[in-house]
Amino acid sequence: MNAQIPTQLVESSRIDSVNFDDPGFGDVFADHMFQMDYRDGRWTDARILPYGPFAIEPGALCLHYGQAVFEGLKAFIGDDGVVRVFRPDRNAARLAESCRRLCIPPFDESVFLDAIDRLVRVDRDWIPRRRGQALYVRPLIVATESNLNVRPAREYRFFVMTSPVRAYFTGGAVHLKAERRYTRAAPGGMGYAKTAGNYAASLLPGSESLREGHDQVLWLDGVEHRHVEEVGQMNIFFKIAGKVLTPDLRGTILPGVTRESVIELLRERGIECEERRIDIDEILHAADDGSLEEAFGAGTAAVIVPVGRISIDARTVVINNGEPGALARELREQIVDIQRGDAPDAHHWNRIVE
Ligand SMILES: *Cc1c(COP(=O)(O)O)cnc(C)c1O
Repeated sequence: MNAQIPTQLVESSRIDSVNFDDPGFGDVFADHMFQMDYRDGRWTDARILPYGPFAIEPGALCLHYGQAVFEGLKAFIGDDGVVRVFRPDRNAARLAESCRRLCIPPFDESVFLDAIDRLVRVDRDWIPRRRGQALYVRPLIVATESNLNVRPAREYRFFVMTSPVRAYFTGGAVHLKAERRYTRAAPGGMGYAKTAGNYAASLLPGSESLREGHDQVLWLDGVEHRHVEEVGQMNIFFKIAGKVLTPDLRGTILPGVTRESVIELLRERGIECEERRIDIDEILHAADDGSLEEAFGAGTAAVIVPVGRISIDARTVVINNGEPGALARELREQIVDIQRGDAPDAHHWNRIVE
């Protein structure tokens, strides 16, 4: 899509309202958004317009039955002035999988990439420059057809907004609550898809764990409540006796782009990384015999979040004295270096926005 698309620019930018020392996380959206609609069997009407409310019918199916999927990725500007988007092709592919699971008509991956290019280009001045900061890019697809029947909608809107963000977690290592009661996903469910509904289901367990003094939920499997799956909205890694473990993708786990990147970087470092089922008892035993060296979460928003404590049932295990581990720190720095163009992009992960 090199052709022009209808573009309506703002009359006056809101950029002066942003505190670029600390832009927060998702508190303010950049001037423009990208939109495209699905009707009469095709995606049509690509356009860029000022960020702002749009009307949908109260009967829109997304509002009633949750037919909504989304993505999250980041754009950076390096000291060299080059604008880079981190692995948007992986988000495009994952969005396609999410769409399939929710019966949303496929969205062309090259159109997805082109939409992000255009939007990031038009709001380029909104990309924060400090290390750890980024322009967060949030694409969504929601069912807009007005109807009360439970069936796939015939009309949808794809839209993309962006938001300047700080590094999501700035503090030290987080405290997890291994969740024995609530579950995030079950076999045959939609855990592998990035859906609004999965996030809605995580709110109550998340708030309860916060109220009890933990930072995040460590999700266990939905059948036996014993196999580790994810942490909050991140994938989870454990370093035990020099080797790294992460749950394998088996339908209940979101295939994170950060997860995929971490696995590749670990292997390049010569660190063995096993993808397999992980029983929480295995983690507890490793904590007891001193072989549990580190644990960390991985996701776009936070990049890498070190885990300092895990509470399970009545006990709490402390990892690396509750401090961020060396591997978590190094991986985080390495990924941020690649994203900012401070290190060579040997994997061709960055998409350059001209
Ligand atoms: C988005 C998400 C992740 C992280 O995926 P990234 O592509 O690395 O951002 C992990 N788990 C869940 C449940 C998610 O929604």
